[in-house]
Amino acid sequence: MSDHLPPPPETGCRNAPLLKERGQREVFCGLTGIVWLHRKMQDAFFLVVGSRTCAHLLQSAAGVMIFAEPRFGTAILEEGDLAGMKDAQDELDREVARLLERRPDIRQLFLVGSCPSEVIKLDLAKAAQRLSARHAPHVRVMNYSGSGIETTFTQGEDACLEAMVPELPATDAHELLLVGALPDVVEDQALQLLADLGIGPVRCLPARRVDEMPHVGPNTRVALTQPFLGDTLAALERRGARHVPSPLPFGEEGTTQWLAALAAEFGVDRDRFERVTAAPRARARKAIAAAAETLRGRSIFFFPDSQLEVPLARFLTRECGMEAIEIGTPFLHRAIAGPDLDLIAPGPTLSEGQDVDLQLDRVRAARPDLTVCGLGLANPLEAEGLATKWAIELVFTPVHFYEQAGDLAALFARPLRRKELLKVGAA
Ligand code: SF4
Repeated sequence: MSDHLPPPPETGCRNAPLLKERGQREVFCGLTGIVWLHRKMQDAFFLVVGSRTCAHLLQSAAGVMIFAEPRFGTAILEEGDLAGMKDAQDELDREVARLLERRPDIRQLFLVGSCPSEVIKLDLAKAAQRLSARHAPHVRVMNYSGSGIETTFTQGEDACLEAMVPELPATDAHELLLVGALPDVVEDQALQLLADLGIGPVRCLPARRVDEMPHVGPNTRVALTQPFLGDTLAALERRGARHVPSPLPFGEEGTTQWLAALAAEFGVDRDRFERVTAAPRARARKAIAAAAETLRGRSIFFFPDSQLEVPLARFLTRECGMEAIEIGTPFLHRAIAGPDLDLIAPGPTLSEGQDVDLQLDRVRAARPDLTVCGLGLANPLEAEGLATKWAIELVFTPVHFYEQAGDLAALFARPLRRKELLKVGAA
């Protein structure tokens, strides 16, 4: 379908050996997801039940909100608060009542758990049920955990969307459900492409407002826009929905294959598909080519961080000519990542989980041209002369679908160009 690209490898990496590591990890926690989720859901509020550390994390990660009426906050539990568990529940009820009285615009309230042991002991599911009953029908109260003990930062979104699934009304309609919190402008582009293809009705999870929440049932077809939504997908499948597997919509090839899988599912004919996709594909290809000049032939090493590593490795190796040395990911969900793995030629080490010291040994031995990693590792690696890219930028920057494909490639080209300039400057 993409005749300018190499043919897909005969055997991709779907069944390649997996190096599993369980050691010290360097990742952000799931609370980080609130930063993009609160922008997406315009009538939601995220109340973190946590410690002062959680409050600081949110404030620094979401500092941009300082001038706006915030849609997240932290109910801070002090060490002694849980001497009586009942007192903590009462305090939470009072806190929520005060918040909802002050903010009638809030229609969905998420109680977000965190990892301090005092919070873990607090039954937030029960609190959400109790508060939902008290504040219905105007406000729906749900809960999920953003704890940093088991997760990486993108799992916060997965846990949030999973918590919403049982609340979705039932339907028998044959509808497409796009799952994943995309920036509105990017979501609008996807909806326009799908409308031009005649695919619909299309709903989105999360919806921008509670009144637009999708319905779900046995004829719902699910298209993921992010690879880290395994628990949400499982919850939708329990409601009867069916996943349409495909590569993730990154780059020209990923977007085309993602759309093609949906076109096949909804019976779109080939001529129409070509007509609708030809121009945006050509634009994407041209934009990628500009950045790929810097990327071609360069090596890349992924530390496990955003869970976007597999589809990005597919994009960078196939569409930008890079060579992947290691593709590390916090969790490998083979059913979701399989179509992307099929397109990655054998060669790179595929690793899941992390033992950060061992992985640092491997990156130092390999000395890749570019290392994708978390903020905590980037500075020390830069000091050792390695060019790095912060994985977290990839979830804060619009990178999906055709119109963003060039920007996605440019995100990886920039640190390499900067390093070249520094070299020239120092010469
Ligand atoms: Fe830290 Fe845990 Fe709070 Fe995250 S949830 S900020 S890891 S204390």
